[in-house]
Amino acid sequence: MSENSKRETLGFQTEVRQLLQLMIHSLYSNKEIFLRELISNASDAADKLRFEALASPDLLGDDTELSVLIEVDKDKRTLSVVDNGIGMSREELVDNLGTIARSGTSEFLEQMTGDKKHDAQLIGQFGVGFYSSFIVADQVTVETRRAGSPSEESVRWESDGKGEFSIETIDRAERGTRVTLHLKEDETEFAESFRIESLIRKYSDHIAFPVSLTAEGDDDKEPKVVNSATALWRRPRSEVSDDEYKEFYKYLTHDFADPLDWSHNRVEGRKEYTSLLFIPAAAPFDLWNRDAPRGLKLYVQRVFIMDEAEQFLPLYLRFVKGVVDSSDLPLNVSRELLQQNPELVSMRTALTRRVLDMLAKMAASGTDDYKTFWGQFGQVLKEGVVEDHANKDKLAKLLRFATTHGGTDAQDQSLEDYVGRAAPEQDKIYYILAENYATAVASPHLEKLRERGLEVLLLTDRIDPWLVDGLAEYEGKALVDVARTGLDLPAGEDAADQEKINEEHKSLLEKIKGALSERVDDVSVSRRLVDSPACVVSADNDLSPQLRRMLEASGQQIPDAKPILEINVGHPLVTRLSAESDEGRFDDLSNIVLDHALLAEGTQLDSPAEYVQRMNKLLLEIDSGEINE
Ligand code: ADP
Repeated sequence: MSENSKRETLGFQTEVRQLLQLMIHSLYSNKEIFLRELISNASDAADKLRFEALASPDLLGDDTELSVLIEVDKDKRTLSVVDNGIGMSREELVDNLGTIARSGTSEFLEQMTGDKKHDAQLIGQFGVGFYSSFIVADQVTVETRRAGSPSEESVRWESDGKGEFSIETIDRAERGTRVTLHLKEDETEFAESFRIESLIRKYSDHIAFPVSLTAEGDDDKEPKVVNSATALWRRPRSEVSDDEYKEFYKYLTHDFADPLDWSHNRVEGRKEYTSLLFIPAAAPFDLWNRDAPRGLKLYVQRVFIMDEAEQFLPLYLRFVKGVVDSSDLPLNVSRELLQQNPELVSMRTALTRRVLDMLAKMAASGTDDYKTFWGQFGQVLKEGVVEDHANKDKLAKLLRFATTHGGTDAQDQSLEDYVGRAAPEQDKIYYILAENYATAVASPHLEKLRERGLEVLLLTDRIDPWLVDGLAEYEGKALVDVARTGLDLPAGEDAADQEKINEEHKSLLEKIKGALSERVDDVSVSRRLVDSPACVVSADNDLSPQLRRMLEASGQQIPDAKPILEINVGHPLVTRLSAESDEGRFDDLSNIVLDHALLAEGTQLDSPAEYVQRMNKLLLEIDSGEINE
């Protein structure tokens, strides 16, 4: 006996331990999904073997009919899922069923709260897989032999799901994997053949391999094929029910929730392929990890080729799940070959269009689905405006914003809504960038526009500075930042007026500029303020303060640019300032006016301590009566 064959006990990785505990606690009301997960693994194993056998037909040997068998035994209280697929080596077994390799898992687990409903939803987005067996079993045994390995190199894995598992080498004649669940005392229903039969039908009718059932103790011991064993996407759309699509989606993605929508299409002619694309209802935990695996499951002539083929959709559609089955691609296609394949460009264009059309239809349907979609994936879709110029117009129609019209932070207004409300002579679309909704909606920059009834988009997502750059205009109306110089509101007040009013207040402007020479580029009379004494604006080609902050936060060196201070000459504080004869106090007041303008737009002061000192000084002067007029 080799060293390896000794029984060895190993501990689960901490994350697995945590996941197991949380799962058993929070998924109890969904417990039968363990069967879907196990059948899904078995069918994946068959897929993988068929794929490897393309290059090494010997792997199949005499056992060429790939299938899945479920055995139940009421007396022994066991349920087994048996496949003759790819199997696992000792190393694979330890890796696959002892650790979770997905990056970000610990951060994900930290979001768990102990609230069953909340946690169940989160775990649903994570996809629980094999470990869900422990919801109904107090002991799980896995016996497996990797295709191509000698029988004496088979392995047995065993665990009670509490923290450790044992592993030992066994001699197993059959290729593939047998997973045996020793059911908990109150879970005997899962050893009842009629119960299991209906679950198999529910969970595996769409799987391309036959799934059969045998029950120990039944008169008829012959395995009975329960599913129809046709890959769902190969069936005509008219013959697939909504429920079947939903089940297939869950099987494919390990998601718990129904998808929001799907699109199933067969393309014939010069190129032939079938695609089935789903829009999930909730974002996965690693949506923001742009390197996380993504993409469609690729089949060529019904043979599984690879998971996560990312070449079929652009990165900004990374939330789309589904299958593509091509008749034209070569069976030996690899990721590298996919990248170079010219056929793929047109497939990618067509699939992208399908997704965007599906979303447009969802948006037009008037249901809440699009709201749900936008809440989960809106920010990702915005990346498309920046990255996918060809589809800019389609994407622009899909965007949703909070605006000054809505009165809430809900991003539910389209550009079409905005343009529909605007007066015909308004040839611009106004927007403001801010850190959050509260800052945006209270910004001094909006005062004049609000007074004039001009609607403003309130942009608070990290990607928005890039979005407005990429979008630039919608239906011929330019997007205009209300916090930049030269803001031109419709009807009236043009640049000549600006020069004139600056001239009228020249001495005050010069004096303030003198006091703030280190901190501002210029001082100007504002035409956009009503209630506030001042605001800061950026020159046309400067970075917006939001973008500047973000780039700085990501460690980039940004050259300094000073803002322009705009003052409201009708405001009592500015009147007070212009009447100030004490030079020191004029300086202090000017600095405070600037500090407040910066704070109002969400910029952190370079020197908060100086601001506080000036304020304290001023407050003491009020107290002593010195400052009373
Ligand atoms: P997932 O299926 O989402 O990857 P699981 O926890 O269910 O996660 O399984 C982890 C891994 O274990 C699988 O990716 C696969 O490599 C392996 N595995 C599980 N079940 C089987 C099986 N029946 N045959 C071969 N490999 C399997």
